[in-house]
Amino acid sequence: MAPPELVTEQARFHALLDDDLFAAIIESVDDGTPTFRNFIGGTWRKCHEYTDLTTPIDGSTIGRVPVADAEETEGAIDAAFQNRRTIRDLPGHKRIEVFERTAELILEHRDVFREALMLEAGKPRHDQDAETGAAAERMRATRAEAPHIYGDYLPGDWSADTDGKVSLVIREPLGVVGSIAPFNYPLFIPAAKITPALLAGNTVVAKSSIQTPVSMLLLARVMEEAGWPAGTLNVVTGPGSGAGEAIVTSPKVRLVSFTGSTGVGKRIHKTSGLKKLHLELGGKAYSVVLDDADVQDAAVKNVAGFCKNSGQRCDAVSAAVVVEDVYDDFVEAVVKAAGEWSPGDPRKAETKMGPLISADAARRVEAMVEDAKSKGARLAAGAERHDAFLSPTVLADVTPEMAVARDEIFGPVLPILKVKDEREAVKQATKTPYGLDSCVFTKDFERMWRVAKQLNTGMVTINDLPKHGVGHFPFGGQRESGMGREGIGYSIDLMTELKTMVFKLGPKEQRR
Ligand code: NAP
Repeated sequence: MAPPELVTEQARFHALLDDDLFAAIIESVDDGTPTFRNFIGGTWRKCHEYTDLTTPIDGSTIGRVPVADAEETEGAIDAAFQNRRTIRDLPGHKRIEVFERTAELILEHRDVFREALMLEAGKPRHDQDAETGAAAERMRATRAEAPHIYGDYLPGDWSADTDGKVSLVIREPLGVVGSIAPFNYPLFIPAAKITPALLAGNTVVAKSSIQTPVSMLLLARVMEEAGWPAGTLNVVTGPGSGAGEAIVTSPKVRLVSFTGSTGVGKRIHKTSGLKKLHLELGGKAYSVVLDDADVQDAAVKNVAGFCKNSGQRCDAVSAAVVVEDVYDDFVEAVVKAAGEWSPGDPRKAETKMGPLISADAARRVEAMVEDAKSKGARLAAGAERHDAFLSPTVLADVTPEMAVARDEIFGPVLPILKVKDEREAVKQATKTPYGLDSCVFTKDFERMWRVAKQLNTGMVTINDLPKHGVGHFPFGGQRESGMGREGIGYSIDLMTELKTMVFKLGPKEQRR
């Protein structure tokens, strides 16, 4: 691969600096580089310390962001805590109106969101559009999902112990919800956590990844403009070791909704004390390609599965296990399809795949590829790196003991393993400790069902790449991939708690 041709102009926030709506989130602008503020208690605030934000496109500095420490984060948690009644005073139908207004504002100011996603995360145009659209859609879906906040009516006469009583089991908001998000979907993942939390009547303190904090700040500004009462949404930027741990350990936070790596998720599980946890963790999606699959179609979908967002998706296809009869055809078709995904400058409209989040991240992935090659894997395509850009990499003849077959890769690499038959394919695909996503390619309905039942993942996709998160279906992991289910109605279940009200009825003759 030739080095990607980069637009010569330095990466900068043009659209953001030209848009009056967002003036409040900027402390100052030096030589075209904005310094951002945090959003606490309804005001945009300075911080004690700042850090440079660089873009993965060319490594240049695109902004300075606050590094909120434990004390500053505590201030944001306090604001959320003090306003837990404020949000409950906003009736449900008003909350839905404010969400709908937020969705409109996201789309009206879409250029700014697009630019932030491009500059801080290196996302190409298609991915910018998909993410802004999905965030707006999540807000709009609140109208349909609000009924999940109802409860149950239980007559007591089904048991002698409760005869003469009835119960209303109601759902109540928890109070403060902490939202901690990773770098790979800096707008959608926070939106997917904040939306059900506020809809259900909680207040929120949110922290995005220090590598991609701007999209979340933009979201907070449009939510403020749309009419969320002061203090109901609070946003801090800062690393996990400061701001993140302050949220996780605070007794005022009743639930932490975390998306990120399995390692950090395990740490949060240990340190969070007695609070509810929603953990969306790492993944290792196996793609099972059986001998009756449409091999060309499976190849195209597997390639999209490992190349979209430069492979930085928890639901990325991270290994393919292919029955020997179709193995050679599949490898050949994958190599051909991967040619369509050459990385390029995300500022160019035609680019399908941009850089990884940083040159360090690309080097880590490259090292995994080298390790597999040293153990006998055959490089069928790719593995060319220029700074944060890595070409789509296809590794054939991978064996189960190689790290690429076992560990999350989080880069555009497809390890391919050959197996004898369906039974061996399932055995290999269920070996990994992760349990987030998987997919199976076959034309036979009975095999679809049989294999899908055996795959030990929270979601199984048949004849397509896994694409969880957006749309209407719930998602979440088993085992090392986490606990809880996301999807607006399912998240509301987690973000509320039940209260059982018991009504003693009058004498029997008056109950009929
Ligand atoms: P990460 O390193 O685990 O970080 C995720 C978030 O946790 C960041 O905001 C990070 O802060 C924060 N954090 C780090 N240490 C913390 C601590 N001790 N206490 C509280 N917060 C802490 O993950 P990432 O590299 O950003 O994202 C990639 C990972 O996310 C992959 O493993 C991927 O599979 C997973 N992911 C899962 C899903 C899903 O739906 N299951 C979706 C997307 C991504 P800073 O980075 O700012 O320090």
